[in-house]
Amino acid sequence: MARIVMKFGGTSVADIARIRNVARHVKREVDAGHEVAVVVSAMAGKTNELVGWTREASPMHDAREYDAVVASGEQVTAGLLAITLQNMGVHARSWQGWQIPIKTDNAHGAARILDIDGAFLIKRFGEGQVAVVAGFQGIGPDNRIATLGRGGSDTSAVAIAAAVKADRCDIYTDVDGVYTTDPRIEPKARRLAKISFEEMLEMASLGAKVLQVRSVELAMVHRVRTFVRSSFDDPDAPGMGDLLNPPGTLICDEEEIVEQQVVTGIAYAKDEAQISLRRVGDRPGVAAGIFGPLAEANINVDMIVQNISEDGKFTDMTFTVPSGDVDKALAVLERLKASIGYDVVQSEAGMSKVSVIGIGMRSHAGVAATAFKALADKSINIRAITTSEIKISILIDGPYTELAVRTLHSVYGLDKQ
Ligand code: ADP
Ligand code: ASP
Ligand code: MG
Repeated sequence: MARIVMKFGGTSVADIARIRNVARHVKREVDAGHEVAVVVSAMAGKTNELVGWTREASPMHDAREYDAVVASGEQVTAGLLAITLQNMGVHARSWQGWQIPIKTDNAHGAARILDIDGAFLIKRFGEGQVAVVAGFQGIGPDNRIATLGRGGSDTSAVAIAAAVKADRCDIYTDVDGVYTTDPRIEPKARRLAKISFEEMLEMASLGAKVLQVRSVELAMVHRVRTFVRSSFDDPDAPGMGDLLNPPGTLICDEEEIVEQQVVTGIAYAKDEAQISLRRVGDRPGVAAGIFGPLAEANINVDMIVQNISEDGKFTDMTFTVPSGDVDKALAVLERLKASIGYDVVQSEAGMSKVSVIGIGMRSHAGVAATAFKALADKSINIRAITTSEIKISILIDGPYTELAVRTLHSVYGLDKQ
């Protein structure tokens, strides 16, 4: 007998027929004698609709009320799946975050899980009950519902798996694993049997939305054996119930991966904007003076490029922010104009960031040069570059995103191995 947490994303529970299919996956594990807890997302499109309504009601709204509204999508699916399971003869009960409780901090809209009462769920296992938990939500110190940021049900699932010391956490989605790049953009993308925690962390934070970043962090810290697999597979096909090697992609320690590639995957993030401050004073404290106030305004600054100043007096500072934050950032910079001292500020939205990821880069030279040449051959202009030990990120004009992803995917032979 094993203890398994199963998470089902929005497309997997998009309608009652799909919820029935999900229930068959759950029943398979229950019938095999395992202890099972389930985490569900809202039905596909539901959260977007709820978010849209909060914006329509008021563009600047109270984050606590945003949470009260958007957390409701998961409540519906948890109840519907519990009903469906009961109808199949499975002892199931739905639970919301506050009932367990899943305790979070006070950052409404992007809360972090602080603590989960594992004993509550373990008691349910003891009763032979399948707990169906509403993902994406918990309860804050203010005693109000808090949501975990978009894609947060992945994090609910991994955090619950850690709290109950589950043998496995299965993230069921609309693809059958983690691919070398988004299969919607590159049909030649290949499914990876395994990917290291570090690489998955980079893939997720650089745009691959298959897992929320925080879920990968938790899986890495708490050593949760996490699989990404498809809910659309026939629940009763051979091998589906394989305990150690289910179909899908295992997120694991790099030591577990025998055949290391130099490059493992390509990720992309659309809707980046570039902001440049021209003729900024080249003196100590200028960067702190710019990026401190932007951080205080909760603006996520990503790539930063500071030019070497020719005369030692002035420099140019360029950085990227999500397109949705441009107006907010420009307002902050306008307020700082006198204290920082710059000539003009220029901004351009509609950029994309494409990234090449692989732990093999640590020991291989020339990976970046290959990317630059491949993009040049396609006449794709590079606006900014950042690198770390295991990734290269390149800022380009948005319309070239798909071409850049496919070009990089092919130049590293990811479509062939
Ligand atoms: P869910 O609703 O199940 O949480 P998401 O839409 O959040 O599903 O994530 C799954 C999607 O992630 C896939 O449909 C796919 O288009 C996208 N994706 C992006 N990059 C990758 C990748 N490298 N591997 C697999 N899927 C990816
Ligand atoms: N329903 C939430 C969202 O769409 C959480 C999730 O699906 O993981 O972001
Ligand atoms: Mg998701």
